[in-house]
Amino acid sequence: MRSRSRRSSGQNDALVLSLLKAADRPVSAYDIVDLASRSGTRLVANQVYRTIARLIGQRMVKRIETLNAYVSAGTGADLCLVCSRCRGVDLVEAPALIRSLRQSIMDARFDHAGGLVEVSGLCADCRPPGVGEPESESAQNAGFVRGSTH
Ligand SMILES: [Zn+2]
Repeated sequence: MRSRSRRSSGQNDALVLSLLKAADRPVSAYDIVDLASRSGTRLVANQVYRTIARLIGQRMVKRIETLNAYVSAGTGADLCLVCSRCRGVDLVEAPALIRSLRQSIMDARFDHAGGLVEVSGLCADCRPPGVGEPESESAQNAGFVRGSTH
């Protein structure tokens, strides 16, 4: 039996996009099903996948392969920093990197499927204090002494 739902694909697009925008973390397709039902709309996973595919085609949504999840992304960001602890992501623009990457991909005669370049690691909130901060390099070289007030 066909669903009696009369929601148009445009309504589904708007709903899914608003749920992604409201989330402060990447969300999976099943998270979206869950969030939609909590907001009073019944969506099945297939509808969510179709909707997401449309939104990715319109460059409104990006898929984070590392997390198997999605974020709303109206920007031209191509580089995605993924925190392996809190699953937070930071989308950044890296035009020089992308130009160089495209050239390498073309040189390899590879058919690029698109998508983000993803880098895993720890975000500023999750990494131990002092790690990864450029100004702390000399402190690290000196051992654990850092931030002394003397
Ligand atoms: Zn984190």
